Amino acid sequence: MVLAQLGGSISRAIQQMSNATVIDEKALNDCLNEITRALLQSDVQFKLVRDMQTNIKKIVNLDDLAAGHNKRKIIQQAIFNELCKMLDPGKPSFAPKKGKTNVVMFVGLQGSGKTTTCTKYAYYHQKKGWKPALVCADTFRAGAFDQLKQNATKAKIPFYGSYTESDPVKIAVEGVERFKDENCDLIIVDTSGRHKQEASLFEEMRQVSEATRPDLVIFVMDSSIGQAAFDQAQAFKQSVAVGAVIITKMDGHAKGGGALSAVAATKSPVIFIGTGEHMDEFEVFDVKPFVSRLLGMGDLSGFMDKIKEVVPMDQQPELLQKLSEGNFTLRVMYEQFQNLLKMGPIGQVFFGCGNMIRGGHEMEQVFYCLFLCNHSNNALDQEDGDDKKSVVFSMLPGFSADLMPKGHEKEGQAKIKQLDNSNPKLMNESRMMRIARGSGRPVREVMELFEEYKRIAKAWSNMKGLGKMAKKGDMSS
Ligand code: GDP
Repeated sequence: MVLAQLGGSISRAIQQMSNATVIDEKALNDCLNEITRALLQSDVQFKLVRDMQTNIKKIVNLDDLAAGHNKRKIIQQAIFNELCKMLDPGKPSFAPKKGKTNVVMFVGLQGSGKTTTCTKYAYYHQKKGWKPALVCADTFRAGAFDQLKQNATKAKIPFYGSYTESDPVKIAVEGVERFKDENCDLIIVDTSGRHKQEASLFEEMRQVSEATRPDLVIFVMDSSIGQAAFDQAQAFKQSVAVGAVIITKMDGHAKGGGALSAVAATKSPVIFIGTGEHMDEFEVFDVKPFVSRLLGMGDLSGFMDKIKEVVPMDQQPELLQKLSEGNFTLRVMYEQFQNLLKMGPIGQVFFGCGNMIRGGHEMEQVFYCLFLCNHSNNALDQEDGDDKKSVVFSMLPGFSADLMPKGHEKEGQAKIKQLDNSNPKLMNESRMMRIARGSGRPVREVMELFEEYKRIAKAWSNMKGLGKMAKKGDMSS
């Protein structure tokens, strides 16, 4: 996903600024210009980018900051807040209530992924115990009903539509009534899309909306829409009361910046993102963890969820206890690493090199892992392996979302370090040489890795919240 590259560019800009000897007006401007360029390249609307730059400058008044202030942290926080603000319209969308009747209408251009997303949305809720139903009010596109029917049947979700009726309003009303009678609590109405915005589409949408009185209208937008996103989203918003946005095809090669523009245009939050064609390739969208991951600041709660999936129940409290005490030791890190290996595609890389990493000292083991992982990168150059592992690793503090892009083995190598610096002395010259010999890599690379490892360990040690999570018993619930 190309948004990940945006995150990488922004993180690099911040990093470069941090490396400057003094953080003055020039360092700040260079950083902001770099971020501006990255956002524009990602198709974020020009006005939004300009506003963001102005806001950050207003917040970060270097003259007013006393010498003791940590300027780097303040600037980073301001950038984080502004990016969150872009994606957060400040008010949550209507949240359907389980057990009550909720009518949700989907709108969007043809091909945006609307019909697919209707089923994903229904399926997502069905898995959580809701009773969803699908109504096909798309009478414009031949085959729309068949598509919905096929998806619905696969997911065992009741559906309604007609091959003969040409009035979408009539179908929508009949469908909603039927499912209300059947006590469905989430009635999803799929409407027609067109290739481009046109008056008849908006009129039809307006009529369906008026007749079915939806509790929520969701605008579905293809992430590849680019700079047109703002105008398009705004046009929909002007015709119907769009209350939420779902961005599809985030797994593709779209620049994704249009997502930010759509939020600004509709003043509605992104609630889910589509990450593939399959029913379950659908993720809840949360602004802060998303931006946090984008900037390489980690997403601990997401990470914890993942860990919960893979760490055996009986080991969870102990692991959390260690983390909450700030004991992010080499042993803990190594265990974490092993758990990460179980997380799908990334695991394949490591399982292939199990023998190599089994013997030897912990530190060497981890380094072997790192080297071997990079050498096995090709194994992941299939389908969506890269995206998936990026998602997992971007949840770790210190890793940005553009971890290990295809064909960038060296870069990847420099990013997949998660070790402990509780005893950096462990790593002396002879040990580095031994590792270099053992792994067949130049000593320089081992040294670089160690530096990177220290950086990540520091990022971990700065992370707050683990302790709180441990106390809340998040991991054992
Ligand atoms: P509609 O015309 O807006 O109803 O669009 P469809 O639901 O028919 O989707 C158009 C195409 O996009 C189909 O081939 C879908 O499988 C595909 N699609 C939908 N959502 C996603 C997604 O999140 N990722 C990917 N890769 N493809 C998607």
